[in-house]
Amino acid sequence: MCKVISICNQKGGVGKTTTAVNLGIGLASEGNKVLLIDGDPQGSLTISLGYREPDRLYHTLASLLSEVMEEQKPSVSQTIIHHEEGVDLIPANIELSALEINLVNVMSREVMLRSLVENIRPYYDYIIIDCMPSLGMLTINALACADSVLIPVQAAYLPVKGLEQLIKTIGRVQRRLNKKLRIEGILLTMVDARTNYAKDISKLVVDTYSDQIGVFETLIPLSVRAAEISAEGSSIYQYDPKGKAASAYRTLTEEVMRHA
Ligand code: ATP
Ligand code: MG
Repeated sequence: MCKVISICNQKGGVGKTTTAVNLGIGLASEGNKVLLIDGDPQGSLTISLGYREPDRLYHTLASLLSEVMEEQKPSVSQTIIHHEEGVDLIPANIELSALEINLVNVMSREVMLRSLVENIRPYYDYIIIDCMPSLGMLTINALACADSVLIPVQAAYLPVKGLEQLIKTIGRVQRRLNKKLRIEGILLTMVDARTNYAKDISKLVVDTYSDQIGVFETLIPLSVRAAEISAEGSSIYQYDPKGKAASAYRTLTEEVMRHA
């Protein structure tokens, strides 16, 4: 059975894309068939996997979604890129932002991505969607088609405070569009283990949310190596296999697999 996980937080720069890459490749290295979907017009996931000029790609998530909107058969196999580290990718580029605007006038606009994903589900064990930093129509689409949502949160005071709006949106999608949607958990990222402050933040998150939402035991450490991989086009496992960030993402992979 395939599980669709959307990685979501409207706050920018919290580690969504880095988590999509390294969780996705982590799951693939454990023998799972994994598809990564870039849901951000910035194309950061696409770039992080080594496709440096996403705007030159012809087949992307935007072209697939326009085919769905026009009730044509989406050209999925022409769009999927096979990455050398064993994951598949549906890339994105700036055209996705025009598409998001066009969605507004479409009937069933919140479930266009769901129509697409339902066709692809049978071929994968995990589909991971990297969301853009907003709660706009594309993110709603990503929530409407997911089984669960993973929320990366940068271990700092203000981002933790901003979670209420996201949780409210998830609840709304759950009630109106997707009853099966669950919160996979909050993942603390960029944790600076040298400071007590990081421990305070972790405790704050657990105290504030753990009665309603799971918080992953795994903490993703602040790591220069992790920051460097987006320019490398590879995962942390290939770039710095013995480092603490690789080890944390391996542990996260195991935790996600235990959730079933
Ligand atoms: P956006 O909201 O713009 O899509 P994002 O939530 O996807 O951002 P990332 O792009 O994954 O966040 O990470 C933001 C920045 O922080 C990037 O420059 C990335 O390389 C860096 N970064 C990610 N994880 C870590 C980490 N564990 N330690 C240090 N830097 C990190
Ligand atoms: Mg991103």
